[in-house]
Amino acid sequence: MTAENEIRQVVVIGSGPAGYTAALYAARAALRPLVFEGSVTAGGALMLTTTVENYPGFRDGVMGPELMDGMRAQAERFGAEMVRADVVAVELTGDIKTVTDAEGAVHRAKAVIIATGSQHRTLNLAGEEALSGHGVSYCATCDGYFFRDQDIAVVGGGDTAMEEATFLSRFATSITVVHRRDTLRASRAMQERAFTDPKIKFAWNSEVAAIHGEQTLAGLTLRDTRTGRTSELPVTGLFVAIGYDPRTQLFTDQLDLGEGGHLKVDPPSTRTNLPGVFAAGDVVDHLYRQAVTAAGTGCAAALDAERYLAALA
Ligand code: FAD
Repeated sequence: MTAENEIRQVVVIGSGPAGYTAALYAARAALRPLVFEGSVTAGGALMLTTTVENYPGFRDGVMGPELMDGMRAQAERFGAEMVRADVVAVELTGDIKTVTDAEGAVHRAKAVIIATGSQHRTLNLAGEEALSGHGVSYCATCDGYFFRDQDIAVVGGGDTAMEEATFLSRFATSITVVHRRDTLRASRAMQERAFTDPKIKFAWNSEVAAIHGEQTLAGLTLRDTRTGRTSELPVTGLFVAIGYDPRTQLFTDQLDLGEGGHLKVDPPSTRTNLPGVFAAGDVVDHLYRQAVTAAGTGCAAALDAERYLAALA
């Protein structure tokens, strides 16, 4: 890792398609990037999925973890240095930035690329975390198959929720969409697909008040958002599809935020409001949120950093 008083050219925070692509480009520019991959989900969101069918170059699709292992190895081949640790603090304002890892080691760099991605929202209910992976899921693509011939619920009213519900209808016996309002936020096309699906029904003006089950999910208590009355919903699967939050906690006091709390950049560049600090991928993107767009902006961030560093010299 970084010698105590070494000043790196560039540090990358994050290890999804954006972070690894930034690392690849920075490494090929001989910048010897130090990449903090995170301690839990190194490789990013695609480590949690199976086949990725829309990443260019793979005619028959590619498994998410395989794609990410390939991106990592490719960046390493050109000299990127990977660290499986979390960054817990940053100081980005001066010419020399500091990045502190979970063990308290402080790393210095002239440029920092932020590619920390985004995190799904939770309902914040008792039992939710314990039953995650045992009936409670945040990803229909990943877990839908486990819910064959079961009655399940999907929480949410946007495009993601409708997409999850229609996808799950190929496995489940019935899907109840639980939504706090009496109309959906989803696009007209997504609504139509859900409304015409005979397996999908709607619990309007409803929210999940409680999650039941010891080892696996046994049911939900719903609460009517107008009357407060509760009712039981006997389901063995719960898919939470209420949106994502960009991982910006470390940066909010130093960097400008844009729509939905995403990091703000000066498009089409990846420059943030601070010189030498660049951001890429889902931590910036509130619109596309795809692996290929994250990789594309990761490339742009490395090129932006390279130009910034060249101008300093
Ligand atoms: P992420 O992939 O989210 O990676 C960010 C990573 O940075 C984190 O996982 C963590 O390891 C690291 N990190 C975060 N904070 C810190 C920190 N403080 N210190 C150190 N490291 C940190 N897109 C497609 O194009 N096709 C698909 O088929 C597809 N399927 C998907 C299936 C699922 C289940 C999910 C959840 C997403 C899917 N996506 C798909 C979307 C795609 O995965 C994302 O758009 C993409 O991964 C975003 O890349 P990213 O690099 O911005 O962030």
